[in-house]
Amino acid sequence: MIEIDNVHKSFGSLDVVKGVSLTVNKGEVVSIIGGSGSGKSTLLMCINGLEPIQGGQIRVDGTEVHAAGTDLNKLRQKIGIVFQQWNAFPHLTVLENVMLAPRKVLGKSRQEAEEIAVRQLTHVGLGDKLKVFPNKLSGGQQQRMAIARALAMSPDYMLFDEATSALDPQLVGEVLDTMRMLASEGMTMVLVTHEIRFARDVSDRVAFFRNGHIHEIGSPDQVIGQPQRPETAEFLKSVL
Ligand code: ATP
Ligand code: MG
Repeated sequence: MIEIDNVHKSFGSLDVVKGVSLTVNKGEVVSIIGGSGSGKSTLLMCINGLEPIQGGQIRVDGTEVHAAGTDLNKLRQKIGIVFQQWNAFPHLTVLENVMLAPRKVLGKSRQEAEEIAVRQLTHVGLGDKLKVFPNKLSGGQQQRMAIARALAMSPDYMLFDEATSALDPQLVGEVLDTMRMLASEGMTMVLVTHEIRFARDVSDRVAFFRNGHIHEIGSPDQVIGQPQRPETAEFLKSVL
């Protein structure tokens, strides 16, 4: 369970996250939508401790992320994160790229790491690309490799920050399908996305971010289908 409790985050004098509370239960898929600069990416960064916070608390399975004694490396092992783009190591094959973290971080043997990487790459539909170099993959395949790389750490949570935003439109679907598959397998996910229809489809809850706040949150049918607040409706009109 991820418990975000009245979190405040600022960069210098710029307040970016202004008292956000949100609990993500095991197996839940929560989508965060909202305009540019509303604080969505910043909140994700705070969840796995990539950014310090100035107020409130975030707990992941009871561990307080920003407490002094917290082992962030250990915590991050259970939180996979996929960004718009992941720069794979160009001189390593797809397989070697995905093997890296299990080898280095989890201390797996070469054989174990390879088994894990093959399994996850096959899972995301890249079983035939193991020996290829990353620059030979399409953008959609590269994003699926990034997902496989995160999954190779056996995370309990997956965070996605606009995982399809940098893709050509015809490549978006294959990555969304992979995310949909993870959701259907019960993965706990927090996703920042501009793919509103997708969010409506896969999410248990949708949070509309505005100006560092959760302006509206509820089921996808509520927030996307029948928004209660005019700003939510306006935002949806601008992106749908
Ligand atoms: P987008 O939809 O464009 O990705 P977002 O909702 O993810 O937007 P954030 O990236 O969280 O927005 O940024 C929120 C605000 O914080 C913006 O005003 C941004 O300029 C600022 N910001 C983000 N990261 C930093 C940083 N490292 N240093 C200073 N300001 C930052
Ligand atoms: Mg962002």
